[in-house]
Amino acid sequence: MNIHEYQAKEILNGFGIPVPRGRVALTSDQVERAAKEFGGRCVIKAQIYAGGRGKAGGVKLVHHPEQAQEFGKELFGKRLITPQTGPEGLKVRRILVEEAVEIAREFYLSITLDRNTSRYSLIASAEGGVEIEEVAKKSPEKIHVLPIDPFTGLRPYQARKIALALGLTGTVCEDCVELIQNLYRCCLEKDCSLVEINPLTVTKAGWLLAMDAKINFDDNAMFRHREYPDMMDYSQLDPLEINAGKYDLSYIKLSGNIGCMVNGAGLAMATLDVLKEFGGEPANFLDVGGGSTREKVAEAFKIILEDSDVKGVFVNIFGGIMRCDVIAQGIIEAASEVKCTLPIVVRMDGSKVEEGKQLLAESGLNVQTADTLGDGAQRIVSMLG
Ligand code: GDP
Ligand code: MN
Repeated sequence: MNIHEYQAKEILNGFGIPVPRGRVALTSDQVERAAKEFGGRCVIKAQIYAGGRGKAGGVKLVHHPEQAQEFGKELFGKRLITPQTGPEGLKVRRILVEEAVEIAREFYLSITLDRNTSRYSLIASAEGGVEIEEVAKKSPEKIHVLPIDPFTGLRPYQARKIALALGLTGTVCEDCVELIQNLYRCCLEKDCSLVEINPLTVTKAGWLLAMDAKINFDDNAMFRHREYPDMMDYSQLDPLEINAGKYDLSYIKLSGNIGCMVNGAGLAMATLDVLKEFGGEPANFLDVGGGSTREKVAEAFKIILEDSDVKGVFVNIFGGIMRCDVIAQGIIEAASEVKCTLPIVVRMDGSKVEEGKQLLAESGLNVQTADTLGDGAQRIVSMLG
């Protein structure tokens, strides 16, 4: 789960990590007022669920409150497109106004879950800022990676090693050691899959400051964090994803024209691969999970049909726990309700498969059934011709 920069900064601050003074604004008048409060010179930052804002024109240093207001007007409602947003971009509805800081140096610092080692890794670089992706590509030796042993945790000497590798000395170095340990504490206590400070800056006055912050929570830890849902900004999410979440369905939007309903993530991956193999382009995939009900299948099917990119639907379900006749009923119910005329191919197997196929055949829908994954994929691709 994503949160905004200003929320991430509040959390970091709660763990003793220094951040610039700032205010969140919802209107350009509020932007102006906040700018006045900070003496005119301030940084205006679009709050969206994506990085790369600096280069996309979402971050600006201004010198007067009027200039702040003007830029606020320009940003509100605008869709910012960055390498992390996808082609449609994300709409700006909140703006963070911060006191401007004189930067001496910019570092990169993060802790993230490394799924290969099943551990947190601390990642740091002396070449932080907006070019970090380039640094990682062109000179990976400038990025320091330290795997953290979950049993011993992050030891002070390890944090010091990183601070020294960043070229810090004296009190700033000691401040950084403390900051790194606080960052790790934050990561553990808040169950983050990522905490990132880029840039972590040393100001001209010699203080460490988290100038930007990004936090991702681990969705699986939702049950022990009552505070997570309240922090969610639904306006930043795909409405269909929100809807799917309500029914406990996993929905992922893709760029093609074939809607895919599957059960299980492994089968989903295989389905997408085989579709691609036959020249098809998936528009999305929706995982209805294991033991689903007819209602859930119907909701899932409706969500797929709501995506206007969908020109045909491919259902690939193995009825182990789930019965094929239940799946068929769900599809028929949803397709009839929204008067779907799109071609549908259903490949299902398992319990009550014959009953399921018969229900579909008698449904009057534009539906074909298939016995194998390859057969089904070929059919839907050729139906869309
Ligand atoms: P991102 O591009 O989405 O990662 O947004 P950032 O918050 O990292 O902002 C991009 C860049 O703007 C930073 O790398 C800084 O160089 C610059 N920036 C942000 N805040 C300030 C500030 O208070 N003063 C100055 N001089 N530059 C800033
Ligand atoms: Mn940044």
